[in-house]
Amino acid sequence: MAKFNVTFNEALCKACGLCVTACPKNLIKLNMEVTNDSGYTPATMTDIESCIGCQSCARMCPDCVITIEKND
Ligand code: SF4
Ligand code: SF4
Repeated sequence: MAKFNVTFNEALCKACGLCVTACPKNLIKLNMEVTNDSGYTPATMTDIESCIGCQSCARMCPDCVITIEKND
């Protein structure tokens, strides 16, 4: 199991890309295959196993879309 769980409240994402830039491991991308009800392509994780739980993405998001939990 991955050390951390990173979830996105896709409905709130505005696809600003700030979390993509903020991740030091370059693990987040905008999912061009999904469009939320507001018409944006929401952010998503590419490789949860590589997440170091730094919270940089969650702190950067202006809309509190991202939640990070530590797995036991
Ligand atoms: S917690 Fe850190 S390493 Fe994990 S996705 Fe967010 S910015 Fe990247
Ligand atoms: S920073 Fe927040 S609103 Fe912007 S793309 Fe990332 S999850 Fe979406």
